[in-house]
Parts: sequence; C-alpha cells; structure tokens
Amino acid sequence: MKTILVTGGGGFIGSHLCEKLLEQEYKVICLDNFRTSKKRNIDELINNPNFRLIEADTRDVGVSNLPFSEKLDEIYDLASPASVTYIMEHPVEVATVNAIGTKNMLDIAKSMGAKFLFASTSEAYGDPKEHPQKESYWGNVNPIGARSGYDEGKRFGETLTMAYHREHGLDGKIVRIFNTYGPKSDPDDTRVIPQFVTNALRSKPLPIHGDGMQTRSFCYVSDMVDGIIKMMNSDQIGPINLGNPDEYKIIDVAKKIISLTSSTSKIEFVNRPPDDPSVRKPDISLAKQLLNWEPKIKLEEGLALTIEYFRSLL
Ligand code: NAD
Repeated sequence: MKTILVTGGGGFIGSHLCEKLLEQEYKVICLDNFRTSKKRNIDELINNPNFRLIEADTRDVGVSNLPFSEKLDEIYDLASPASVTYIMEHPVEVATVNAIGTKNMLDIAKSMGAKFLFASTSEAYGDPKEHPQKESYWGNVNPIGARSGYDEGKRFGETLTMAYHREHGLDGKIVRIFNTYGPKSDPDDTRVIPQFVTNALRSKPLPIHGDGMQTRSFCYVSDMVDGIIKMMNSDQIGPINLGNPDEYKIIDVAKKIISLTSSTSKIEFVNRPPDDPSVRKPDISLAKQLLNWEPKIKLEEGLALTIEYFRSLL
C-alpha cells in the first residue's frame, strides 16, 4: 500500500484529491495549516483509518523534524494560498510557502526517494501575450506587481522542482492548474465562481471587474483531480497544463449563474484589479497526448453541483 503526503490536503482541490486517493486504498497523510480553508472539507475523511491529519505549516516541517514516521512513496505539494485577494494581502506568506515550504517538501521527497508533484498555476503565464497558453510559452509576469508573490512564488516552485530533478535525480512533476471550481471551495473565497455563486444565493450584487469582457476557462474539480493523479502516475516531468479549454467571458458567467440560481442579484461593475489577465485558456494538447486526459464535465453541469453545495452551506 502506497503512503502519500498531500500538502494543502484540507483545501478545496486537496480534500477532493485525498478522498480520491483513499478510494484507491492508499494511506494518505494530509498536512495543512487551514490558513485558507475550513476543516469541514475533511469531515468525511477524518475517521478513515488510512487518513491522518497533521496541522502544520510546510515552512516549518522538514527532514529534521518530520511529524510522521512513515516512508512516503509520493508527495503532492498543493499547500499555498490561491485566492486573489488573499495573495495580494499576504504576498510574503504566499511567496515563502512556494519557496521555503516547497523546498522543505522537496528535501523530504529526496530523502525518501518519493515522487513529487508541484501544483503550479496558469498565473505562471501572467497576463499572456499568447493565446491559448501552451507550456512552451514563458509568460508575461510582472515580477514586482501586486500578484507577484503568488505568480513568482509559483514560478520559483517550478524552478526548485526542476532543480531537484536535474541536480538530485528527483522524480519531480509540475502541473499548471487553470481555474478550477466545485464543491468545497470556500464561500468567502473571492475567486470568480465561489464569489458569483454565493453572492447570487445571498441576493448580493455580482462584482464584475472592468467591462467583464475578459475571458476565463473553468475546470470542474473531479476532472482536475483525475488529471493530477494521472500526472503523478505518468513518467512525465512537465510542466503540463491542466484545465478546461472552454472559454467564457466573465460577464456571461455572471449572467449564467444568476439564471441557474434564479437570483434577484444584479451585476455591479467595479475597477479591475492590477495585472488582471485579459484572456485565459489552456492549450491541453500535451495532457491529451501524454496523459490521455481531458475534462469531461461541462460548465452547466459543474455549476449545478457547485450551486447545490453552496446552497446546503448557506
Ligand atoms: P485552497 O486555498 O482551498 O487550498 C490550499 C490549501 O493549502 C488550504 O487548505 C490552505 O490552508 C493550505 N495551506 C496554505 N498555506 C499552507 C502552508 N504554509 N502549510 C500548510 N498548508 C497550507 O486552494 P485550492 O484552490 O485548493 O488550491 C490548491 C493548489 O492548487 C494551490 O497550490 C493553488 O495555488 C493551486 N491552484 C489552484 C487553482 C484553482 O483554480 N483552484 C488554480 C491554479 C492553481
């Protein structure tokens, strides 16, 4: 039986990943400090004898003070704040989690000969000048901008993963995750879908940054988790984009959510935050070809499941 460490395993994507790995009868150690998630995400996992929670910060855990004795086979490194407002308010934290925290996890993987997967992001492409974004594109990131703690933090996490692979032969993998949504995301998260759905359910206005003509593409969480696991089980290093290439204007997403929730909410146009990307759409040819992966859940279907979740919570 494999023993797998999932950092950020209490978070939105991480909790779904832990659940899936437990279904496959692996032993899962979830390491999380619950900075940006709620413990209720793992309520259904906590009594599973193959699941263990360690409440800690990846920046404080290393080879010399391991809080567990098991030998790990794999580490999924997802620990990182990701919500746009949080990362802009806490740039030092987010930059160091993806640098110091990720280095600590890489050292643990190296010491145990474990496989390592780093959860990078489409933000690695910044405000892209190439559309859709292919993995070969180096991006257009402002290194000192309001989002740079996150964007450059993730780019540095990628750098470290490749450095450990090159210098130490570590079996490291990088996935670039594009916007993902679904149940268990935080209702107070200011990312597009949780914010629009919770505001629609609370009859509050849906804030549109700028004119809402900027585009995003949204991947349902179960598809994302399948892609992440396929990457870990592959012999690929990456980076490989994981996301849903169906592209939507933000204003259309807001209208769709108002309609699906039968809400009385109105749309409210607000200022665009700095360095807000104008377009975002993954080219997933590599994931299709190398991992035999592509998303299956359409936006309407995923939104219905997400709305049901937030309705039960609110
Ligand atoms: P999330 O905030 O729900 O999950 C992140 C988890 O990491 C949380 O449980 C948080 O408490 C934990 N965490 C943060 N800092 C930590 C630290 N120092 N030590 C231990 N735990 C810590 O967000 P998510 O959407 O599930 O994101 C998971 C990963 O995927 C992140 O690395 C994020 O950057 C990446 N990602 C997500 C998306 C998306 O659309 N959801 C897009 C691109 C990349």
